Amino acid sequence: MDSAQTARWLRESSSAIADNKDYLTQLDAAIGDADHGSNMTRGFAAVEQKLDELDGGSPPGRILIAAGQTLVSTVGGASGPLWGTALRRAGRAMGDVEQVDDEGLIEALEAAVDGVVELGAAQPGDKTMVDALRPAVDALRAETPEGGLARGLAAATAAAEEGMQATVPMLARKGRASYLGERSIGHQDPGATSAALIIGALERALAGPA
Ligand code: ADP
Ligand code: MG
Repeated sequence: MDSAQTARWLRESSSAIADNKDYLTQLDAAIGDADHGSNMTRGFAAVEQKLDELDGGSPPGRILIAAGQTLVSTVGGASGPLWGTALRRAGRAMGDVEQVDDEGLIEALEAAVDGVVELGAAQPGDKTMVDALRPAVDALRAETPEGGLARGLAAATAAAEEGMQATVPMLARKGRASYLGERSIGHQDPGATSAALIIGALERALAGPA
């Protein structure tokens, strides 16, 4: 993954989230406070603006760190610090290389999910973004060595979507939805849903020409 592909990932994420803004807000209305669509849309719009300002020569890791900082400062709510941490950790793991190889990308995404877990303390099954992100990164790690990165990313997207759907019957144990207890059961987690969109965006960003 090079700088152009990194920027493409963030812009693809931004448009996927903006296209699903109302849907994400509806999901958050059911088990939260109905701001997830607007939170994420505002944050990623600011990331796009940041991309416009960044020096074209910034390496992928620097771009992700800047994007993470932008999310932290523009998104109130749980998802801002969590996604901010995820992108900054991924960026830090990449260092200053111009071209991140497949192993570097996998390690960066593993670092991102580890950062989310460290900050938010959610375990798999707690009905959060971790339920989409962890299986996605595990699938990428399992599939890429033999199948190649394109297959790995396709497997990651499929795993994220499955993980997202699997949040429906879960009882929320973290975040606002946990205040609802049993009443959180039967609703898809908004953060797992936006996470699946962001993984899908990565697949599309890396599918095109470098
Ligand atoms: P808020 O809950 O502050 O309104 P958002 O609506 O933007 O923030 O984000 C809610 C999403 O954040 C949830 O659907 C869930 O996926 C995620 N989330 C909340 N708390 C945690 C946590 N401790 N760890 C991981 N993800 C979390
Ligand atoms: Mg909310």
